[in-house]
Amino acid sequence: MRILSGVQSSGRLHIGNYYGAMRQFVQLQDQGEAYYFIANYHALNTVRDPKLAQELTRDAALTYLSLGLDPKKAVLFRQSDVKEVAELYWILGTVVPQSNLERAHSYKDKVAQGISPDFGLFAYPVLMAADILLYSADAVPVGKDQIQHIEFARDWAVKFNTQYVPGYDPADPEGKERGHAPGILKLPAAHVQESTATVPGIDGRKMSKSYGNTLELFGEEKDIKKRIMSIKTDSTPVEAPKPTTDAPLYDLLKLMLPASEFAEVDATWKAGGKGYGDYKKKLLEAFHTTFTPARQRYAELRADPGELERILQDGAQRARAEATRLMDQVRKAVGIP
Ligand code: ATP
Ligand code: MG
Repeated sequence: MRILSGVQSSGRLHIGNYYGAMRQFVQLQDQGEAYYFIANYHALNTVRDPKLAQELTRDAALTYLSLGLDPKKAVLFRQSDVKEVAELYWILGTVVPQSNLERAHSYKDKVAQGISPDFGLFAYPVLMAADILLYSADAVPVGKDQIQHIEFARDWAVKFNTQYVPGYDPADPEGKERGHAPGILKLPAAHVQESTATVPGIDGRKMSKSYGNTLELFGEEKDIKKRIMSIKTDSTPVEAPKPTTDAPLYDLLKLMLPASEFAEVDATWKAGGKGYGDYKKKLLEAFHTTFTPARQRYAELRADPGELERILQDGAQRARAEATRLMDQVRKAVGIP
């Protein structure tokens, strides 16, 4: 099984990225051939400062490694180190219906949040499809917000194969039956961990780098504390009426506390009678317990930029080998010398 996924270097990575995606990345590296990348082309949609773009790219790579990604098992690379992705993006785009992009949730959400509706953001799902299809991925571990993009990638792969592969039958995409040819582009499947599919941010919206509502994995202690203390709660006293469980603080506690500890919190929460401040302190403790080892590794790895670059170069080389193989087939199919 080929596993592939990425995170954008559009800001410092947060616990939503971890629980929604990166925790699974680390688990899956033992279950198949894993390719993980830093989506630094995608990040240009929101990061327009070249120095910052570089720094955030390095930071995302450090984050992967600190969280337990083993570069000997998984291929870790920068998206921009494999230029073939930009070529596939273009070629694939020629068969993408504009109407698909117009109904992309993530685009609409981002524009609604005030991000500039530029072409790059609009075309983002096409580059993402190219990211996945270029490496013939079977499974793509992602958070819930990305499911639609993976469905697009499947649909467009079918469109491409139908158009360009003689003998391709969409009902038999792997060409298992006699007389059918396998597609050049393999259909990927989203791999979503339901319990953590959407991690809420401190303001209750989806936690996102671009919404400024995150708990950063490697943020400064002071800042993390401040952010946890500012998690949005309703203003009614906790005692009466009883607090609702439809609250980001409740969801975050559920996410971060061990099951037995959460059961206690759940009981007191539902009974009312405890201040939100106490729960926030509990969440802060859980944050430290969970992430202190990774935070220590992060500090060590940061001190050795040469080693980081070496790992990324090695990953780029391995990723490029795959990409070149696929692009040879794609170019031949469409008639590009
Ligand atoms: P941006 O705001 O720039 O889009 P982001 O915080 O949404 O950044 P991405 O790089 O777009 O992060 O997403 C990386 C991975 O993390 C994806 O698989 C995405 O589904 C997952 N993810 C991001 N935010 C959350 C969240 N709040 N809950 C669960 N998964 C998430
Ligand atoms: Mg996102």
